[in-house]
Order: sequence, then C-alpha cells, then structure tokens
Amino acid sequence: MSLQGKVALVTGAASGIGKECAITMAKQGAAIVIADLNMAAAEAVAQEIIQAGGRAMAVVMDVVNEEAVNAGVQQAVDKFGSIDVLVSNAGIQIIHPIEEFPFDEWKKLLSIHLDGAFLTTKAAIKHMYASGKGGAIIYMGSVHSHEASKLKSAYVTAKHGLLGLARVVAKEGGPRGVRANVVCPGFVRTPLVDKQIPEQAAALGISEADVIKNVMLKETVDGEFTTVADIANTVAFLAGFDNNAITGQSIVVSHGWFMQ
Ligand code: NAD
Repeated sequence: MSLQGKVALVTGAASGIGKECAITMAKQGAAIVIADLNMAAAEAVAQEIIQAGGRAMAVVMDVVNEEAVNAGVQQAVDKFGSIDVLVSNAGIQIIHPIEEFPFDEWKKLLSIHLDGAFLTTKAAIKHMYASGKGGAIIYMGSVHSHEASKLKSAYVTAKHGLLGLARVVAKEGGPRGVRANVVCPGFVRTPLVDKQIPEQAAALGISEADVIKNVMLKETVDGEFTTVADIANTVAFLAGFDNNAITGQSIVVSHGWFMQ
C-alpha cells in the first residue's frame, strides 16, 4: 500500500492536520500539492518536503471559490500528471450559542466545510475518472460528524454533512475505482483548537484548564489529545488502500471519545 507514484492534493495543508498529512504522504512517496489560502505558509510546507527529498508544489486556493479550485487542480495536473488522492481538510471553527449565531458566520463556516468539499471533489474526481486508475478521496470530518457539542451548531451540521457527501461519492465513484471516506479526529492541538480554548472558557464561564479537562477530553479513555501524527497516519492508510473494501466509511480517531 505504498503511495509511490501517486499525486495527493491536500487542502488547508499550510497548517495543523493538513500539513502533517502532506508531510506523511510525501514520506511514503506521493507528490504533494499543498492547497491553502495562505500561500506563504503553503510554500514553506512545500519547501520542507522538497528539502527532505520529496516532490511538492504549493497552490493558492480558496476552497469556496470554484474558479480557484479548478485552477489549482489544473495546476497540479499540469505539473504532476494526475490527482490520485484528495484530502479535503480546510476548515475553520466558529462558536456561539445558537440564538446569537450570526447568519453570515453560519454561512461562512458551512461554505468552507461543505462547498469546499463539494468543489474540490467535483474538480478532482474528473481526473481520477479520466486516468482510468480511480483514486481516494478523504474528507476531514470530526467526532462532531457523530456527536454534538454546545455552541457548535454550524460545525456539527457541517461535519455531519460530510458523511452524506462521502457516502454518495462512494456510490457514484465505486464502479470507477474512486473510494471516499471520512476521518474523524477528536481534539488535536492545532491553531484551530488553541483558538477555541479561551473562547470556550469565556462562553462557558470556566477556566481554560477546565475546558481542556472537562469539556474537550472529558469523554476520552485516557484524558489525552489526539495528535496530528495519529490523523496523518490514518489518512495515509486510506490514501494507500487500493480497493473498494473500505469506502463510504468514517474512521474515528479520538482516544475513545466516540465509539461507533
Ligand atoms: P488549522 O487552523 O491549523 O488549519 C486549517 C488550514 O485551513 C489553515 O492553513 C487555513 O489557512 C486553511 N483554510 C481555512 N480556510 C480556507 C479556505 N477557504 N480555503 C483554503 N484553505 C483554507 O486547523 P486544523 O486543526 O489543522 O483543522 C484542519 C481540519 O481538521 C478542519 O477541517 C477541522 O475542522 C478538522 N478537525 C480538527 C480538529 C482539531 O482538534 N484540530 C478536530 C477534528 C477535526
């Protein structure tokens, strides 16, 4: 299940989980396309991979912009010849009680997670079909694809939505060799989570230590954060798994916070 000779495009790969997915798949032989809003940080990740002997390029991409998504995917195909793996990972978090949730923030969050997943899938799957080799599409879900938490109405809605998209893509893509799965992390210390700790402390009226212990990690089996490496290894496994035996699934990686 090597990634040698494969081309993987990862959105939101300039930071956090996406960055680690890119570096891990590069180590396993894939050429990597780092797609992110933040071009300077994307370029730095691409350089890190190249300096370690891998193949990588950075493309600037706002995943909610259809033209930008199509252009970035085309740049990747022009340089590396195909797209074999798509990791739709770009995401943000916005928390408010539902009665105070600004509608524009609700729409922004849903758009980045769901429109982004749709547009990148639509652009990449055409190349997977055209190559005749199929491919692997991996959506970055969350334990919040299965569970709810207070203050996260938009995020929980979006992450549940990805399960539906993955199942449809699995059915449509299966006969042509395209697999679609969702990886569902528990809490991982990335900039996205570091931003939430003080926000949740303020919103819930508790200390930051209590947010970590009694909100974020309360339901885990051991009080531990999941790591970017845990997620990247799971993504790389799915990227390299080369038949339809695993498709339309979600894999929860959360120290037992959610058990399916
Ligand atoms: P992060 O903030 O470290 O990285 C997110 C990246 O996405 C950034 O580089 C950012 O520039 C990019 N991005 C944001 N909006 C974009 C857009 N419109 N177009 C292109 N790129 C965009 O976050 P992270 O924690 O690594 O999260 C990555 C994914 O993992 C998200 O989908 C998130 O919901 C999911 N996730 C994270 C956790 C966690 O605990 N960190 C848990 C479960 C799921």
